[in-house]
Amino acid sequence: MKLSDVNSEERVVITKVLGHGSFRKRINEMGFVKGKTVRVIKNAPFNGPIEFKILNYNISLRRSEAELIEVVPICDFNETHTSNYEGVTDRKVPHHRRHRHGKNSRIKTINIALVGNPNSGKTTLYNYLSGANEKVGNYSGVTVGVKKTIFKTRGYTFNFYDLPGTYSLTAYTSEEIYVRKFIYEQTPDVVINVLDSSNIERNLFLTTQLIDMDLRVVVALNMFDELQNEDIELNYKKLALLLGMPFIPTVSSKGIGLNKLLSRVIDVFEGRDHVTRHIHINYGKELELSIKNIREKVKENKPITDKISSRFIAIKLLEKDDHINDLLENYANFEAIKATTAKEIRRIEALFQEDSESIVTDAKYGFISGALKETSTQTKETPRSRSEKIDSVLTHPIWGFPIFSLILFLIFYATFNIGAYPMEWIDSLVGWIGRHVSALLGEGMLNDLLVDGIINGTGSVLVFLPNILILFLFISFLEGSGYMARASYIMDKVMHKFGLHGRSFIPLIIGFGCNVPAILATRTLRNKGDRILTMLIIPFMSCSARLPVYILLISAFFQKFQALILIGLYFLGVVIAFVTAQILNRTIFKNKETPFVMELPTYRLPTVRNISYQVWDKTKHYLQKIGSVILIGVIIIWALEYFPRNTKETKLLKNKIEQINLDEELSQNEKDAALYLIDQQIESERLMNSYLGRIGKVIQPVMAPLGFDWKMSISLLAGLPAKEIIVSTMGVLYQSEDESINLQKKLQDETFLFGKNAGNKVFNSASALAFLVFILIYFPCIGVIATIKNESGHWKWALFTVFYTTILAWIAAFIVFQIGSSFI
Ligand code: GDP
Ligand code: MG
Repeated sequence: MKLSDVNSEERVVITKVLGHGSFRKRINEMGFVKGKTVRVIKNAPFNGPIEFKILNYNISLRRSEAELIEVVPICDFNETHTSNYEGVTDRKVPHHRRHRHGKNSRIKTINIALVGNPNSGKTTLYNYLSGANEKVGNYSGVTVGVKKTIFKTRGYTFNFYDLPGTYSLTAYTSEEIYVRKFIYEQTPDVVINVLDSSNIERNLFLTTQLIDMDLRVVVALNMFDELQNEDIELNYKKLALLLGMPFIPTVSSKGIGLNKLLSRVIDVFEGRDHVTRHIHINYGKELELSIKNIREKVKENKPITDKISSRFIAIKLLEKDDHINDLLENYANFEAIKATTAKEIRRIEALFQEDSESIVTDAKYGFISGALKETSTQTKETPRSRSEKIDSVLTHPIWGFPIFSLILFLIFYATFNIGAYPMEWIDSLVGWIGRHVSALLGEGMLNDLLVDGIINGTGSVLVFLPNILILFLFISFLEGSGYMARASYIMDKVMHKFGLHGRSFIPLIIGFGCNVPAILATRTLRNKGDRILTMLIIPFMSCSARLPVYILLISAFFQKFQALILIGLYFLGVVIAFVTAQILNRTIFKNKETPFVMELPTYRLPTVRNISYQVWDKTKHYLQKIGSVILIGVIIIWALEYFPRNTKETKLLKNKIEQINLDEELSQNEKDAALYLIDQQIESERLMNSYLGRIGKVIQPVMAPLGFDWKMSISLLAGLPAKEIIVSTMGVLYQSEDESINLQKKLQDETFLFGKNAGNKVFNSASALAFLVFILIYFPCIGVIATIKNESGHWKWALFTVFYTTILAWIAAFIVFQIGSSFI
């Protein structure tokens, strides 16, 4: 029987996993090995992936993947399957000495890496420790997800790294490769392996690999509160003795056990921990023989085995891991190693009638089962967890999608409506500062630069900080709570229709915050084609930098349906993204198919600390951007607009002013009116003649069919470094005598000065909408282009994005404007 044919709520036992390559390997590592019980839970909406429960956690697979797993009903399974638990062998040698220090070293710096499954609580632990101790430094990953904090306590300096979550150290995802590389290149003194104790069986899989690597490990038995709530008793002290590494129960969301954890880390570092010892897991006679034979060959290479344990290399070779081959390539006996490996693989595959990769995984799970049997009293399976109850509503086959849509709507509604209040406060604050600085300085160029340029320009961007805060608050909450994975689960079927992977959904959602981390987040996609495809459509996910422009224009030109128009824009972006995906899939990225093996983590309430750290991180980023790129952009735009000061007409018009002033026949009122007109004329002449005006006039003809005037065209140009600059540029360009009126009003009042439309309003709903659409689609920003180049490894994808987005933006805005105009 196939797993895909099993009915909901039925329990079956796995007899065989078919399929091959990375799918099979991944699914083995996630616990789908012979003899394990699986319970079917339900189908995702749109008849999408199926949810299962295995090893006491929830996972989803596509139907096509579940077809590759052979099962039998639990009553038909006879336990002839003898346990292959052989325990461990003690090595009477100390752990590998890492090069940085010896036992007596005076250096009191400990490098610590946090390693563990996704959602095991690493980041929570990291945030707690870095918040509770005297912080020395901080550094947020250039690469995906890595953070470093340096703090001092108990006379030691801790270099603490939060690594991305991984299930294994196979070369399966780029995260895994990254973590593995980090371990053998940065050689942390101590690894803290964070385990989710309510899910310990699967979590220990990674631990077995850390043991193979001969690392000094301290286990944080995290989520200990959940373990206590469930009916599981775990003799972790016995387990610690068996594995030769200390186990410290922790509840990192409450900070419980973390002091003890640090003490043990110091003990292990100083080589005085009584539990720590060097062991080998005994994988059984035959496997051990193969490992030994390969290892002897590998050991001939001194330079590399100093850094990476030869046992780990031997096991990885046996598992047909390509990346290990890359490391050994340069060694004299590489061919001999390969030959021995091939021979051993052939030998054990014939013996076990299995793939060598599965043999190793089976052995590891066999060891874990055995070790847990001796130390834990798991009372069968917990009936129905709280998460499953929540999911019976949130991922319901019918209600799941409407609920998901509602959540998205609420997020955007809150971003727009609640954000409006603090926005006004900031706005008036900026105005107040501007007026006071202006009064202090008196008239002159410095005043113009400071007030019109810098304060107004950056102020108009700063105003949107609350909206961005709110958006990130929601995104962080969704991520921390576990709902994000459900979003992928719900969306996989739909995504798959467009040739995308359910996992692409998360980077796409992050794209609503900022496209740059979204592109980095595509690293969770295993397949290069999937990754690049996702990367290329992320720019159509409307990032928060675009939000200020939307809010400005929507609030100025649309009195009704504001939230709907906003959502409509986001939706348009999504449609374009999907259509693009579909086109690229049919043309450039053919034949890529990636398994959908995804954990549905337990729902947990994210801590306030985690959320505020994350939101603060983003806020800091936004403020830094205002202080750097945007500030420079503002000054450049201001200068281009400010110079040259005089035009040919200036003298003439100045004379006119004098004449009017001297004119005896005019009343004061008439004089004022005439002077005002001339002032306006001088100002617009000057603007047209400014460097910015000249550039605008050059590109104006191209933009005219879209209903844009030269100021709009320039704002778009100015937005190339970052889209927030569009707003600040408009703040600089649309000045008026009366400083008290807001930018919205200024835009509404703006009229064409010349040409056939002279006197007409520049903005109407058609041109405003076309402008919005253009901003949504065109050139994302320099940061995104650079990131695409880096992450894809090619300029061609970056250039593709530049041209594709901009040309598409023009066409779409043209259509919107032409259709819109015919209605007005
Ligand atoms: P990471 O993926 O390993 O970095 O995991 P996170 O640190 O993001 O934690 C995932 C979720 O688990 C968050 O919602 C945390 O608030 C929650 N969490 C972390 N540690 C604990 C714990 O010890 N007990 C409980 N109940 N929840 C926790
Ligand atoms: Mg994390």
